[in-house]
Amino acid sequence: MESAIDVQGLSMHYGDFVAVDNIDLQVNEGEILAFLGQNGAGKTTTIEILEGFRSRTSGSVNVLGHDPQDAPLSWRERIGIVLQESEPVPELTAGEAVRMQAAYYSNPRNAEETLEVVGLTDSADQRTRKLSGGQKRRLDLALALVGDPDLVFLDEPTTGFDPSARRESWGMIEALRDIGKTVLLTTHYMDEAEHLADRIVVIGAGRIVARGTAKELADQIDARTRITWKPSPGDAAPPDHFAAITNDFGNLQVNTENTLASMHELTTWALGAGVDLHQLNVARPTLEDVYLELTKDVSR
Ligand code: ADP
Repeated sequence: MESAIDVQGLSMHYGDFVAVDNIDLQVNEGEILAFLGQNGAGKTTTIEILEGFRSRTSGSVNVLGHDPQDAPLSWRERIGIVLQESEPVPELTAGEAVRMQAAYYSNPRNAEETLEVVGLTDSADQRTRKLSGGQKRRLDLALALVGDPDLVFLDEPTTGFDPSARRESWGMIEALRDIGKTVLLTTHYMDEAEHLADRIVVIGAGRIVARGTAKELADQIDARTRITWKPSPGDAAPPDHFAAITNDFGNLQVNTENTLASMHELTTWALGAGVDLHQLNVARPTLEDVYLELTKDVSR
């Protein structure tokens, strides 16, 4: 598989401070890669280097066959960038904004078709200042797509969206993959990464701390099923062999590889002891649990 992005040994120092520390990163053509990390981990620095907006201290960077530091203008046309915050010219209609943007490119996509991909056809004649927050983000995406880029950088594309707008955006992002685009996505929503990403790379304190599919990441931690319940005052303590622990939420938690047998044992004990297993929950670790576990000991 061809790499759209191939980064080897990338470092970025700000004076003595090492923001990005010798990272390798590959993004395959046509995949959605989620680049995750806490604030300050080094995501923006890395992405700005990939976009050609920041020079690096050391390492090799290849994006669509070029080093972003000295790539030709034709290279820039192959890259679409959707920033978190952007304000379109308020006097223009959505359609005008997209057509105007298209004029900057030698081989743009059809503007009407682009508006359709992002679901803005019905709002094409609206002034951009009248667009809702969700519609503005669609317009941002249309503006990034109209140049027909091969690679799209999406920076927290659904921050501040209500749940239904998020789901719609996910559909739009999946549509990008369907038409063969490569997407590098940053997000703080683990369900978003789990839903959209073919692969995930986690950066912590400037270093890559994990990479793989959501399933591969889950395999790196204790992925046993978690049975949890909220203890009530006066409850009998669970027998020692359950190895129940108190989790971060103050609930009791039993980790198990054999959910059925453990549930049988637990409920038999609870019925006998008169414990009501309040808020009983049985769940596999989510990507959020995995992420928190993988990043918990990472600090500068
Ligand atoms: P993220 O996007 O993951 O939040 P950043 O790449 O923005 O992380 O920042 C990584 C670290 O580098 C942070 O500690 C940040 O304070 C620092 N940093 C970013 N830009 C600069 C700069 N221009 N000068 C000095 N330090 C910087």
